[in-house]
Amino acid sequence: MSKNSVFVLDTNRKPCNPVHPAVARKLLTQRKAAVFRRYPLTIILKEESKNQPKELRIKIDPGAKITGLALVSDTNIVWCAELEHRGFQIKDNLSDRRARRRSRRNRKTRYRQPRFLNRKRRDGWLPPSLMSRVFNIESWVKKLCRLAPISTISMELVRFDTQKMVNPEINGIEYQKGELFGYEIREYLLEKFNRTCVYCNTKEGPFNLDHFYPKSKGGSDRVSNLVLSCVKCNQKKDNQLPVDFLRDQPKLLALIEKQRKQPLADTAAVNATRWKLKETLEAMGLPVEVGSGGLTKFNRKRLGISKSHWTDAACVGTSTPDSLNIKGYQPLLIKAMGRGSRQMVNSDKYGFPIVAPKLRQKSFFGFQTGDIVKAVVKKGKKIGTYVGRVAVRKTGSFNIKTKTELIQGISHKYCQHTHKSDGFSYGFGEVVQ
Ligand SMILES: [Zn+2]
Repeated sequence: MSKNSVFVLDTNRKPCNPVHPAVARKLLTQRKAAVFRRYPLTIILKEESKNQPKELRIKIDPGAKITGLALVSDTNIVWCAELEHRGFQIKDNLSDRRARRRSRRNRKTRYRQPRFLNRKRRDGWLPPSLMSRVFNIESWVKKLCRLAPISTISMELVRFDTQKMVNPEINGIEYQKGELFGYEIREYLLEKFNRTCVYCNTKEGPFNLDHFYPKSKGGSDRVSNLVLSCVKCNQKKDNQLPVDFLRDQPKLLALIEKQRKQPLADTAAVNATRWKLKETLEAMGLPVEVGSGGLTKFNRKRLGISKSHWTDAACVGTSTPDSLNIKGYQPLLIKAMGRGSRQMVNSDKYGFPIVAPKLRQKSFFGFQTGDIVKAVVKKGKKIGTYVGRVAVRKTGSFNIKTKTELIQGISHKYCQHTHKSDGFSYGFGEVVQ
């Protein structure tokens, strides 16, 4: 049983304090509440609530593929989830469409004047694949704000805090006291050396920060004297001077010498998507706290929490409490699926239509593709109960994708809604032991 709280709305749909699943179950069996949404599980009370709910904070660790989400109160985790984006799929779809249009225009409007110079991009334009991540997160923050009393947002904005290390190549670790600085430096160097061992080029961590010129032989503590090395190479090098360790590889030696002195360009630390997300969240009117990746890691190590997308989210920012219990929590796995396609005709690889145009209708017999349904089949070859994502057909004979298999040809008559399509599919992650 997961410890993730169940969201509670009062009869006027005002968010109340989320409750433990056992409390929710009791309210449901006593018929004091009804299920409002299945994902995330929300119940609606049958009376008005006069209590002032306790304010919650939503914490976000935005990632390229998966974004971690955590709802926390002052001392506790309330709810957690991991949101999977569609970034690469969108890019593929758009390249595909582009190719198809190119081909069609070549065939049908060959003598049209070129008009490629009249296009302009707005300031702050981001490619659709990146914007989809921003939109996914925005829609979930908005959704959660409707279900829980959220008053503040925390998000990880940058990998490392450049302001904490003005001119990092000059300042040494020693000058900046404090453990946190070490974490910022580490993130900085991971980025600078592209998460690759400088000696053997492996991308397999864990990595050590290697003093290029060993301290025992007069090497300094400056960041420019630190390089990223896998544990194996680090041990092999021990306290040898670079010229001795790399005596057979003069080219590599010269390369590292050059690389280690080059400061990382500021732009490398700035992630356009995350800044866009910050703007978007700020536009929602809630205060947004930002933190760095170094700080997240520092917090996570300090609290002794294992790494995952949602635990990282719970550790974002300076607001993180001194202790967090993550035992027993199970993240809701949310996957962005899109809401169908506008393309009316499927085409072959040359861009020619291969079947008749798609029907303009999306829903049949009250169901649409992406709904989660429960089908109880009582007769015929497919007797059984199936719960899963449905793919609708005009004939009323649907396909249901359950956790384990794809069941074809289930009549709409057997189906009942569990959760209507909202552009996401759902699952559950592992319970933290
Ligand atoms: Zn190595």
